[in-house]
Amino acid sequence: PIGLPASYLDPKVFYSDAPFLSEAPFMSTMVANPNHIGCHTLGDSEPVFGGTQELERELIELCATQIFDASPDSVDGYVASGGTEANIQAFWVMRNYFIEEHHADHEEIAMVYSQDAHYSMPKGVNLLNIKSITAEVHGENRQIDLDGLEKKLIEAKKEGIKYFIVVMNMSTTMFGSVDDMAASIALFESLELNFKIHVDGAYGGFIYPFSARDPLYSFKNEDVFSFSLDAHKMLLSPYGTGIALIRKGFIKYAMTKEANYVKGKDYTLVGSRSGANAVAIWMILRAYGSKGWTSKIQELLDRTDWLCEQLKKRGIQFFRHPKMNIITLKPDRIDHELADKYFLVPDDHESPSWWKIVVMDHVTEGVLDRFLLDLDKSLENE
Ligand SMILES: *Cc1c(COP(=O)(O)O)cnc(C)c1O
Repeated sequence: PIGLPASYLDPKVFYSDAPFLSEAPFMSTMVANPNHIGCHTLGDSEPVFGGTQELERELIELCATQIFDASPDSVDGYVASGGTEANIQAFWVMRNYFIEEHHADHEEIAMVYSQDAHYSMPKGVNLLNIKSITAEVHGENRQIDLDGLEKKLIEAKKEGIKYFIVVMNMSTTMFGSVDDMAASIALFESLELNFKIHVDGAYGGFIYPFSARDPLYSFKNEDVFSFSLDAHKMLLSPYGTGIALIRKGFIKYAMTKEANYVKGKDYTLVGSRSGANAVAIWMILRAYGSKGWTSKIQELLDRTDWLCEQLKKRGIQFFRHPKMNIITLKPDRIDHELADKYFLVPDDHESPSWWKIVVMDHVTEGVLDRFLLDLDKSLENE
């Protein structure tokens, strides 16, 4: 191809004949440097990069059908730079849908999310110039305060808001809490509001569906419009591997018709992106398979259960969703030095009211044993 401003990576710096590359599909794809500009689950695509685009299509279909129970060929999507982009992509499509199909004004559209939601929600609200409604959560169980939200929604309706982009957390970043989808849908229906649900699965997307098999958090649930996932969190793939999944028939609302030089136009937020990222995710999913991944998650949850038991024995208070691998500790009996030594993550770096532990592969029972010994030492001084 001589018409594209693209080639393999600079040969002076990135040798394509390095011996290890033949054994490393992700890195050799990096060196070949395919550009996945555009969305490849619909319409035409640049034919030059057809090979890796096919892998990306397979990967999107795999996530949609096997993780979220979609029927075959009913979801569009692409590998985004991360959860932030995948979230904003979904909001962008939904906002444009309300504008084009319902002739909505920007001031008539609001995004609704809990106070524990990720900061990509306010970022999206700001970029898309729509309203926002933040739902408070109960301090202990981190569930949305539905009475409070109902009041805010009635108020919003009075102020002329007619269309709602509702974000449900399929695990928050700080607590691993999962929003009560049934209760939220019931609330929106009881108020006869026009709403669509986006599920933020950036954190929990590769955990919760495997541990909980919750049909409400799937494409079987008609109210769910889209999911975002992050392979660069739990799946341990390289950064740049967010995944956006959107029900078929809607991504057209984000098409940039002026993208004339891109074959098949562009439906994505980002523009040029590396095809190697799709290869990385595809390989990880293929290497484990659904059974393999489910048992890996179960192992992490068993270890999380064990740590919870140990903490209870010591009278340490914490929040934990039983299907997630996050434990968030109350700070009163956690020594600051101990938290620093083990790099526990605070909810607020200036004045922590919670410290979080994430049980990942490297957080072995050995590491946790050492943590508990140090914890016991610090408790002696109480
Ligand atoms: C990490 C995270 C995001 C954003 O993901 P990035 O990949 O950092 O853009 C969004 N939502 C939740 C719940 C997250 O945990």
